[in-house]
Amino acid sequence: MRCKKCGQKACMEIRRHRAAFCPEHLIEHLQNQVARAIKKFKMFAPNEKLLVAVSGGKDSLALWDMLLDLGYQADGLYINLGIGDYSVRSKEKSSNFAASRNAVLYIVSLKEIYGVGVEHIAKKTSKAYCSACGLVKRYIMNLAASRGGYAAIVTGHNLDDEATTLLGNVLHWQVGYLGRQSPNMPAAGGLARKVKPLCRLTERETAAYCVIKGIDYIIEECPMSVGATSLRYKEVLNFLENHAPGTKDQFYLGFLREGQRYFLENTEEPELKACSSCGQPTTAEVCSFCRQMERAGLDPLAVHRAFATE
Ligand code: AMP
Ligand code: ZN
Ligand code: ZN
Repeated sequence: MRCKKCGQKACMEIRRHRAAFCPEHLIEHLQNQVARAIKKFKMFAPNEKLLVAVSGGKDSLALWDMLLDLGYQADGLYINLGIGDYSVRSKEKSSNFAASRNAVLYIVSLKEIYGVGVEHIAKKTSKAYCSACGLVKRYIMNLAASRGGYAAIVTGHNLDDEATTLLGNVLHWQVGYLGRQSPNMPAAGGLARKVKPLCRLTERETAAYCVIKGIDYIIEECPMSVGATSLRYKEVLNFLENHAPGTKDQFYLGFLREGQRYFLENTEEPELKACSSCGQPTTAEVCSFCRQMERAGLDPLAVHRAFATE
């Protein structure tokens, strides 16, 4: 196999693009794909200040690296959820990367603020672990973006993640979620804009990017996500992609092109008002973060105070 660009020995084939690349041109190709997604979905302008949510995994570190290489002003946010050794090591990978690129990384630690990790919160509220964790992450990301004056929160969701979410939303006909499943969620009522520049890349590609660029990332998935239904959806999509390269692209990018607007038209824009407890945007009287923390016996406002002392 030869590189499509220079004819030298290729290190990776990308079957859905009917192309193979040498390491140098693979990096160029992947960065081009990201630049293309940023432009196509009008994610952000060159002068906007970005907050990259970094987990220490391949996707978010590759993304941060690409944004810096592309010349964006991109700071990082790592949320330490207190998931034992997994959090210790993923935080280390994130800070090592930040140091290597001389980039700013904010670290918000649940254990430091509350003395407990997210597992405690899930148990106390009898919620599924990933949903309790997702809520905490979204809330903290939003708070950090508004406190720091960032134009957008940038996450490392890739094509596999987005196609998997889409499959789940279709299988359960989550019409509201389908209307809102966009790689560029505009800011609304005090909620920051949320963008996903890796939506055209698979996780195999972000892993290759990190290996070639020498970015050290945490390889294992979060131990609490083992057995999640979404992992089975991912397997199904990989099976289909293997038989017909391009299936994921057609499914997800085709949905954005052809289908999403139908759902969007039928989705009522939720009316946001300030949470009576914390002041953050919500559709209810008290936001779901405040309710979750109160049910877990924790003070929702403690995280606000932690931001104030930074
Ligand atoms: P996940 O929900 O674990 O699939 O992660 C999706 C994206 O959320 C990642 O690519 C990151 O951008 C972000 N993210 C996940 N975990 C964290 C974390 N602990 N701190 C900050 N951002 C995170
Ligand atoms: Zn080449
Ligand atoms: Zn609240």
